[in-house]
This record gives sequence, C-alpha cells and structure tokens, in this order.
Amino acid sequence: GEAIKPNFITQVIDKDLAANKHGGKVHTRFPPEPNGYLHIGHAKSICLNFGVAETYANGRCNLRFDDTNPEKESQEYIDSITADVKWLGCEWEEPIRHASSYFDQLFEYAIELINKGKAYVCSLTPEEMTAYRGSLKEPGKPSPYRDRSVEENLDLFHRMAKGEFADGAHVLRAKIDMASPNINMRDPILYRIRRAHHHQTGDKWCVYPMYDYTHPISDALEGITHSLCTLEFEDHRPLYDWVLDNISIDCHPQQIEFARLNLNYTVTSKRKLKKLVDERFVEGWDDPRMPTLAGLRRRGYTPRSIRSFCNAIGVTRSEGVVDVAMLEFAIREDLNERAPRAMCVLHPLKVVITNYPEGQVEELVAPAHPQNEAMGSRTVPFAKEIYIDQEDFRESANKHFKRLVLGKEVRLRNAYVIRCDEVIKNEAGEPIELRCVYDPDTLGKDPEGRKVKGVIHWVAADRAVDVEVRLYDRLFNHESPDAQKEVEFTEFLNPESLVVLSGAKAEASLRQANSEIPYQFEREGYFYLDPIKAAQGELVFNRTVTLRDTWAK
Ligand code: ATP
Ligand code: MG
Ligand code: MG
Repeated sequence: GEAIKPNFITQVIDKDLAANKHGGKVHTRFPPEPNGYLHIGHAKSICLNFGVAETYANGRCNLRFDDTNPEKESQEYIDSITADVKWLGCEWEEPIRHASSYFDQLFEYAIELINKGKAYVCSLTPEEMTAYRGSLKEPGKPSPYRDRSVEENLDLFHRMAKGEFADGAHVLRAKIDMASPNINMRDPILYRIRRAHHHQTGDKWCVYPMYDYTHPISDALEGITHSLCTLEFEDHRPLYDWVLDNISIDCHPQQIEFARLNLNYTVTSKRKLKKLVDERFVEGWDDPRMPTLAGLRRRGYTPRSIRSFCNAIGVTRSEGVVDVAMLEFAIREDLNERAPRAMCVLHPLKVVITNYPEGQVEELVAPAHPQNEAMGSRTVPFAKEIYIDQEDFRESANKHFKRLVLGKEVRLRNAYVIRCDEVIKNEAGEPIELRCVYDPDTLGKDPEGRKVKGVIHWVAADRAVDVEVRLYDRLFNHESPDAQKEVEFTEFLNPESLVVLSGAKAEASLRQANSEIPYQFEREGYFYLDPIKAAQGELVFNRTVTLRDTWAK
C-alpha cells in the first residue's frame, strides 16, 4: 500500500485528529456484500479506505463482508473478493469480519430498541407498507401496528426469530417519524423473516437484519472511526446516526460520502455484470472484457496500474464520468516501463530469403527492453524462412507506407535489411509467399549508401511458437450503455469486443512465457499469457491494451 493524495476526506480526518476526536485513531473498513465479484468501482473504495489507513500513523482498515442477504450471497463471492483485495496489495486488519458474526448482538440491540419503545413489530403487507410510507410530496401515515405494547412486540419478535410465522408475515420497524421529509426515516424496516440458508450461520436464523440497521452497528462494534461510503447513502446518514444514538454502544463512527466511480463504455453494477455472466454474454466474471478485478487481472492489468488510476481520479463529492481511456493510460504507462519486448506475428505471411544459406540458423541477440539495459536480452533465431505480418506488405504503396513494398527494402527488427523481389499469390490473388534477399552487412548498422526507414517485426518459421492471440476491445460501443431509457444495456454490447486469432506465430523465447510477466509484442500492443489457458497447457495471449489510444469515438 501507499499514501493517498489529500482530499476532502483526509481533511476531515486531519481535523478530527487535531481535535482528538475518536481518541486520535483512524480506522476505516471496506464492506463489500458478497453478492458478486469486485469491479473497478470497488477499487476506488478499496484504494480510499486502505489508502487512508496507510496514510496515517496507526491507521487501520478492516475487510468486512456485509452479508445480510443470504439468498444473493455465496462463498464463491467471498473467496473472489478476498483474493482481489489481496491482489491489489491491501492488508486488512486480521481477522476478516462478517456482519453475520454480529447477528446475536444485532438481535440484542433490537430488543433494547423494543424495550425503549423505539421499535415495533408491523404486520402490514409489503404493498400496504409502501402505501403507508407516502412519497416525497406527501407524509406517510402511521401503521395501525405502531402502538403495539412493548410486551406484545417482544413476544412477536421472539416468535418471529423462533420461526413461528411465515416469511413476510411481520417485520420489525424502527419507530422514528412517518412525516419526516427523508423517507428513510419513516419507520424503516430493521428485520424481516427469511427462511434462507446462510453461508456463514447456516440455518440458525430465520430473521435477518437490514443493511441500514446492520451497518452502523457493525462499524461501531469494530471501532471504526470514519465510515466512508458512496453518495447514494447520504440520505441514509440520519438513520445511521439514529441507530447508534438509540442503543447502548460507546462508539459513533462518522459516515462520510464520496462520489462513486462511473466509467464510460462500462457498466459498474454487480447486478448488471451478473446478468452478463448468467446470460452468457461473456465467458464468466473473469472474462478479460469484464470491468471486474478478476477480468482486468486476466486481461493483464497490474495492481499498480489500478492503484495509479484510482490515485489519478481522486476522491470528491461531485458525480462525474471518467473516461475509460484514463484506465488504459494507466496500464500502458506501467507496462511501457516494465514489459519485456517480444515479437509475434498475428497474421503470418511466409518470406523466403533466397540468398540465405539453407539450414543455417543464427541466434541473434535482442534487448528485452530498448530503454532499460538492466532487463537483459533474449536470443531470436534467424533463418531462411521467416514470417512477417500480412499487413506489413504491399505490392505498391506511397512513401507513407513505411513497411515492405515489392522491389523495396525494409529493416527486420533486431536483424537485417531485406528487399522483396517477388510475390507468389494464390488463385484469389492474395500474396501467400514473398521471395526476398537480405543484406548481410546490415546487422545492427545502416546499409551502405542508402536510408531504410521502415522497421517491421518477424519470426523464424521453423522456430516460431504457434499461439492463439485474443484481441479485446471495449465491451460496449455506447458511452453510457446503462443510462438509456427504454433500451436494455445489453443492446449496446460491442460485437467486435473479442477477435480470436488462432494462427499467430511468436518468437521462440515465448515458449517460456508465463503469466507473471506481461509482454510488449513489438508494434502490436501489450499482451498477457492467459493464466487459465496456460494451466491447461495452451498458449493464449490476451491483448491487454494497444500501444496507443486508437479508439475512434
Ligand atoms: P453494486 O452497485 O455494484 O452492487 P454496491 O455498492 O452494492 O455495488 P458493495 O459490495 O455494497 O457494492 O460495495 C462495497 C463498497 O464499495 C461500498 O462502500 C460501496 O459504496 C463501494 N462501491 C461500490 N461501487 C462503487 C463505485 N462504482 N465507486 C466507488 N465505490 C463503490
Ligand atoms: Mg449492494
Ligand atoms: Mg448498489
């Protein structure tokens, strides 16, 4: 971890520390609900919460699963979230917490509220309850059950917990203010009956506490000082404070809201991402086109790039849309510095070098990184038959085409200058083989008396490794796919978000490729060996990002 850029939240914390509020401590938490995989939006919250803990002496950050909706949650999600937070390089305060481990205490606090006349069992149907709640324009009406006696409420609440009633028959509500202009304060539900097996507590409970009740108490039980959440919870803050003000608990964290991350060309909602997975629009949560941390990782994004992106966008209270090009910029910048270079021909075209000795192979030496000698070098075999990319050859072209043209010369990267003398074509008139000559006096130096401007990549035919290359593009072709009224976001899926090239030829050194190392395939982009395919013995390279921003809006 590392310190974060100062922002309006660190300003609040600085003031609190100066006033010795919260006993001079700084303790945050990242509280995901385990109902899906983490996405890039969560990374913003993770970098903020863990970043705050890193920034202050004795700062701490908990990882807590907010697991009060058993039907939507699972151990798979818990495991993926834990792995993703760890992968980002964050260290939480042990142990990992679960809101469900506070169910006994939450139940006891509910009884305290009932005893104080601050909570009651309500038996309205959900439809009636909605009608009684009123709207922004009109105040709510009190439930006819609002004045049940403490004894009756205690009896009913205990029987709810014992399983005497059907799901939905009763709820426990806070008794606050049905006329409040803030609808969250109109006697919100604290507990509901759900016969659902819970991934942590099994079948122990058939009543489950609501998020708005659970969250402040969980924060307080953990001694959280600053409870950072996204702006949609601003209207819930009075309830957060009400809960803590009305129970016997001696900790009162400060809730502070910040703007969520919205990225263009992307959806960041677990529910929508789950739909893409469930309806097989993508391969899974870790499909490299997904904005999940698992997908970004499989695509070749590094933790460093994601942290630097989060740092660059900063933390504010104003909602906005961040250009996904900023995320791409962050990974490009990281990989440009660190990725060793390699050559891989995506659309191979055979070239025979007619004046090169049959059977001879030269082991040429190429730097792993042109600007960083410390990264060492690799050997690239050169032989009579090589492949170049189909797109790097034309029979005729003007001077702007700095590649190979019939009758002209080009430099082979890390090797010699060649000249194309003949094109062999198939019946459709497409080039299938080029016959070239090489100039043996051009290894690492300019040819005698002439300038050769173009440089292209290549691989030796016999020594090349067959690989599959997957070219990814943005998953959506609309800037705000989920903000269109009347049109489902899946209508904006980009049909060209994945192009599979199964016949690519990579330089011999990539036989040893592994998923610890991202590569730059020279002139093509940054590529990452797909770790899942690699475990199955297949060499599949995911294009992480192109070398330049080529997206045409
Ligand atoms: P989603 O809407 O995708 O389901 P969520 O907010 O319901 O997200 P949680 O698991 O409750 O998901 O989120 C854990 C934390 O991450 C919360 O504090 C939440 O505010 C924060 N978070 C979620 N999405 C974003 C986002 N896009 N930008 C910043 N923070 C986010
Ligand atoms: Mg949620
Ligand atoms: Mg949400």
